[in-house]
Amino acid sequence: MNVNDSPEQAGLRADMRAWIREEVPASLKDRPQSLLADESLTKEEWKPLLDVLAKRGLLAPAWPKPYGGAGFDVGQMIVFNEEWIRGGLPMFRSDGIDKIGPTIIAAGSEEQKQRFLPRILTREIIFAQGYSEPGAGSDLASLSTRADRSEGGFLVNGQKIWTSGAHLADWMYVLARTDQNARPKQKGISLLIFDARNSKGFTISPIVSIDGFHHFNQTFYDNLFIPENQVIGGVNNGWRVANILLGHERFSHPAGNPQFHEWALGQLKKTARELPAGEGTVWDDPGLRRKIVQLEMDVDCLRYIRYRTQTQIAKTGNPGHESSIFKFYGGELLQAIIEAHAEVAGPGSVNWEAEPFGEDYRALARRAMRCRGYTIAGGTAEVQRNIVAKRVLQLPNARGDAGAAE
Ligand SMILES: Cc1cc2nc3c(=O)[nH]c(=O)nc-3n(C[C@H](O)[C@H](O)[C@H](O)COP(=O)(O)OP(=O)(O)OC[C@H]3O[C@@H](n4cnc5c(N)ncnc54)[C@H](O)[C@@H]3O)c2cc1C
Repeated sequence: MNVNDSPEQAGLRADMRAWIREEVPASLKDRPQSLLADESLTKEEWKPLLDVLAKRGLLAPAWPKPYGGAGFDVGQMIVFNEEWIRGGLPMFRSDGIDKIGPTIIAAGSEEQKQRFLPRILTREIIFAQGYSEPGAGSDLASLSTRADRSEGGFLVNGQKIWTSGAHLADWMYVLARTDQNARPKQKGISLLIFDARNSKGFTISPIVSIDGFHHFNQTFYDNLFIPENQVIGGVNNGWRVANILLGHERFSHPAGNPQFHEWALGQLKKTARELPAGEGTVWDDPGLRRKIVQLEMDVDCLRYIRYRTQTQIAKTGNPGHESSIFKFYGGELLQAIIEAHAEVAGPGSVNWEAEPFGEDYRALARRAMRCRGYTIAGGTAEVQRNIVAKRVLQLPNARGDAGAAE
């Protein structure tokens, strides 16, 4: 297992620390709230940071160089993400750069690459994801939104739910059934993209979640016309394309990054040291300190799993199914840390609107609610465990076939 930075990674780390320190405006740094809370920065607010990235060719670090990326390998991406979080830079709404962009690179036509990638790179167009439906989440292939042939393209009808950031998006990508009779059901699906701001037949209805933020939406499709040249990866080939995209989503999910957990642990320790209890502070409780040590060891485990995967990628070029471990282990660990913090903070951790609790407590309460979603988004913890059981541990399924596909 390789736990040290290569000379190239060490150079990148030092370089990033320098430009974050010297070039990123203070207003876009040290924003720990952005790690776990929702931030809706406007394109104008992002601009100074995008200018710094553009100057260094880092607008899309993982994209291949011919498409304007930096061509970073996974090891370099890990360093990039670690330093990004260490600097407290705001989280990107990353559907374009992390998900649909790489998918267009992998499966799109040359015309689609020319048309969309430059605009995704500069964040001129922001995307949102229309996969989940009221009756299709984990079992995504059961989706019932349909796209029927119409001259020059498709008419889309149906409903999506939990569409993060649809209200802020310029474009959407949706999965829809283009062959109603195909069996198995995965075979009749296509991935289509459309202009969400200028299309008739597309409406958005907000869902305000328990943390008080408007993050989710329901999206409705009523005879929405999408031209055929906006099908990505070919008609009825959407399941393959959707899975390319999901692979990018799982690997890039922030819950797998131990920097997040370290930051949350730091907050937990800070609160425990500050809050008065008896003659001293909450920190004096040996039971709490034991719990914190256990959480620290768990974060170390997450870091070492990541190193192991990093080593595997260096050898094989592929993270493999082990990347599912990040999703559920990292997500559950983050929840455990934030729950411990909430226990320490007491009543302040559940009340974010009334005085006398200050902004720190309000942020904590929102985070405690928000992090529940980390074991659901991008594939639930249970589904990730199934993948690990079958693909990594090669355990038999209910029929007794070891390592069998679902
Ligand atoms: C923060 C957040 C952001 C999201 N953003 C988006 C987005 O932008 N676009 C989008 O399309 N969707 C989005 N989603 C939706 C997300 O992809 C789905 O919620 C997720 O796939 C689960 O689907 P479901 O909610 O329908 O739950 P279900 O699939 O109905 O699952 C219900 C429960 O059953 C369990 N379960 C289901 N199948 C199995 C199985 N085979 N074995 C064991 N247990 C199982 C699940 O683990 C879960 O506990 C987001 C969700 C969250 C929380």
